[in-house]
Amino acid sequence: MNVDKYQEICRSLPPHVQLIAVSKTKPESDIEAAYALGQRHFGENKAQELKKKYEDLPKDILWHFIGHLQTNKIKYIIPFVHLIHSIDSYKLLEEVNRQAEKHQRRVACLLQFHIATEETKFGFSWEECEEMLQQHDLHSLKNVEIVGVMGMASLTENRGQIHHEFATLHDYFTRLKTKYFTTQDSFKELSMGMTDDYPIAVEEGSTMIRVGSAIFGKRNYNLPVND
Ligand SMILES: *Cc1c(COP(=O)(O)O)cnc(C)c1O
Repeated sequence: MNVDKYQEICRSLPPHVQLIAVSKTKPESDIEAAYALGQRHFGENKAQELKKKYEDLPKDILWHFIGHLQTNKIKYIIPFVHLIHSIDSYKLLEEVNRQAEKHQRRVACLLQFHIATEETKFGFSWEECEEMLQQHDLHSLKNVEIVGVMGMASLTENRGQIHHEFATLHDYFTRLKTKYFTTQDSFKELSMGMTDDYPIAVEEGSTMIRVGSAIFGKRNYNLPVND
């Protein structure tokens, strides 16, 4: 891992911003190295890889699930996951609730929004999310707790556009807070910002940044991932 870069990021963050070290595809030794420096929040995007790392590594690690979640994989992570960032349908939320009930847990979740121009990214549009909230009372799902929103900006050099996309997500957050979560103090998280755009995200009000390659180096996606 890049210790200097890690420490530089830690020093640069205001106290209200949590750094999530994204360790997907990386060996457990990398996580142990960051753990030794005091890092406790880690992010993974594959359910089975996350489960394996959870089993092998210290139990005071707070595990964030940041990838696209399939309903049949929820069971692997529900017993221990700290926060699911990627809720993008009511069906998924219902299934998380059902599994969490089995484990007598209340699992914290974020609603993921599609704020980028790329079609490939997941998440609700504002209209889809409002439609869900009008059709279903999320507070009636007793084993999940919606604590905020998550989004990924476009992969672009255009800083103005990235600012605009994060500002849009912040606006969605504020509208949801005002309309649906006014009395819920735990609805307070804005998960936005990655290696290339986290300083912009912090300027736009991020409370959680998800940083991988700056800390652990480039990922090799050619390795077979069994998930
Ligand atoms: C991989 C990933 C990250 C981290 O990306 P880097 O550019 O390596 O910092 C953050 N968020 C999500 C959802 C990811 O899939």
